[in-house]
Amino acid sequence: MTALPSSCDVLVIGAGPAGSSAAALLHKAGFSVAVVEKQKFPRFVIGESLLPRVMDLLGEADLLEAASARGYIVKRGALFLRKEERCDFSFADQFTPGWDHTWQVPRADFDQTLASAVEARGVPFAWEHEVVAADFSGAPTCTVADLSGAKQTVRSRFVIDASGYGRALPRLLDLDLPSNFPPRKAVFAHLRGDHRKPGPDENRIWIVCLASGAWAWIIPFSNGLTSFGVVGPLEAFAGYPQEPAACLRAVMAGDPNFERLRHTEFALEPRSLGGYACSVKRLHGPGFALVGNATEFLDPVFSSGVTLALESANRAAKTVIRQLRGETVDWEQDYAAYMRRGINVFRTFGTTWYDGSLPRILFSLAPADSVKRMMCSVLAGYVWDLDNPFVREHERKVAQVARLSS
Ligand SMILES: Cc1cc2nc3c(=O)[nH]c(=O)nc-3n(C[C@H](O)[C@H](O)[C@H](O)COP(=O)(O)OP(=O)(O)OC[C@H]3O[C@@H](n4cnc5c(N)ncnc54)[C@H](O)[C@@H]3O)c2cc1C
Repeated sequence: MTALPSSCDVLVIGAGPAGSSAAALLHKAGFSVAVVEKQKFPRFVIGESLLPRVMDLLGEADLLEAASARGYIVKRGALFLRKEERCDFSFADQFTPGWDHTWQVPRADFDQTLASAVEARGVPFAWEHEVVAADFSGAPTCTVADLSGAKQTVRSRFVIDASGYGRALPRLLDLDLPSNFPPRKAVFAHLRGDHRKPGPDENRIWIVCLASGAWAWIIPFSNGLTSFGVVGPLEAFAGYPQEPAACLRAVMAGDPNFERLRHTEFALEPRSLGGYACSVKRLHGPGFALVGNATEFLDPVFSSGVTLALESANRAAKTVIRQLRGETVDWEQDYAAYMRRGINVFRTFGTTWYDGSLPRILFSLAPADSVKRMMCSVLAGYVWDLDNPFVREHERKVAQVARLSS
């Protein structure tokens, strides 16, 4: 039996962070909303390191308390390592006023926590139901199939597509666009037995630059497991074995920063993911908006994915609310242009990470450098603060500081 109504104000596709938070905001504003989710939660998804901006957005959706109760490891900054060099960012020391911490979350637990909190408010979630067709020629109508293939239609006044890697509406409406980010590859797993050395760096996220041209993350969780992954251009993987587990072992053996991982075992089968960068022709259309990873995903290096997912869900939900209340809204300006501004800051940081200029800056920053505080706010996800020169003029500022760092 499905909890899915035959009509509602807003249908949300996908119950990841973007979908759950959009549903929470719409429900809070008094609209009827239903969520269709293809999988059964908890389910694995990658994307475990959050940014402080997430805390503002979870707060607005009244989801902060539920997540806080899970006791996730508190993330107060990020530590970049290159052999014995280090660059240490603390979110307490940043340009933009904002949160000084966030969390490192096993996403299966985090996503289920958010979804359960919204479901408990009376929002219907149709688990293991998939949107398989959508018609926007009149009132938005989505066709939803259950596991047996049985179909039903849901009419709504608006559809928010938060289907992430599933890319429901981009596929159904032919909105997919190849990303202009070069194809990269990621191999990752959860580890048991990480020998965390007690001290200030014990529970922190480490981002390690590797001689191969790839980089790796170490993200400790409060459940005792540690997430480990390696990301890079395809050519950076040429010297590693193809098979994911052997690849991760080779990466671990190749850098002294991974000493702590040498005696670990895999708690989650190592996986490999390629060509995950994606884009779309447009972020909205008559009767629908795309949010989260259903829009554009660039690269995991600055952990921006969940932040952008929540930001776009927040912005789209607020725009829908205004529209359904009868206000005139300009989706291009109010939503798409706003999102692109923030995404483009991360695009500059991502591009210059891989061309080597950003690591050059990071590893030459003096601890009290004012530039470091400005860059820290970008790394905290405050990419809409136009007072910050590294937001307002991201390309020019990064290029300028890179020149001075050479
Ligand atoms: C290697 C790698 C590392 C990453 N690391 C980070 C990180 O450290 N921090 C970070 O913030 N981000 C990271 N990301 C990005 C992160 O994974 C995503 O940005 C984030 O999960 C997006 O959330 P979402 O809510 O948009 O989508 P998702 O979390 O993918 O949720 C979408 C949901 O929609 C459902 N769905 C799909 N199709 C349909 C359909 N047709 N009908 C119904 N339901 C459907 C899916 O089952 C899924 O549950 C990383 C990405 C990669 C590739």
